Amino acid sequence: MPRPGRYWPDTRHADLPRPAHWGDAAACWDADADLFYPEGSPAEVRAATAAAKEICRTCPVKHPCLIDSVQRGERWGVWGGMDENDRARLLQQMRPDRGGADARPSSATAAA
Ligand code: SF4
Repeated sequence: MPRPGRYWPDTRHADLPRPAHWGDAAACWDADADLFYPEGSPAEVRAATAAAKEICRTCPVKHPCLIDSVQRGERWGVWGGMDENDRARLLQQMRPDRGGADARPSSATAAA
């Protein structure tokens, strides 16, 4: 039997129960994936994005989904109720030099 590795998944424990993952409760699990990765004219993209965000609006795992997508640096699609432009704005707002949540006092202000 080949040794489990990067290209040969370790299936020796495949029969063990899998830990719960937030994705198991996703409201979009049976939704049309094209809504979440829209293509077409600007009007079609806006309509699909709005429909995807409407599904996200009541999703019980909206927050972990958004956090996970931001941590992974997800570039495309609707995740946690935000499209790529929303996430880019969120990240801009979180920048320390913009007074975001991760802002640390500079040495000048800490010494004062
Ligand atoms: S927040 Fe939206 S994209 Fe994320 S799991 Fe829920 S429905 Fe799917």
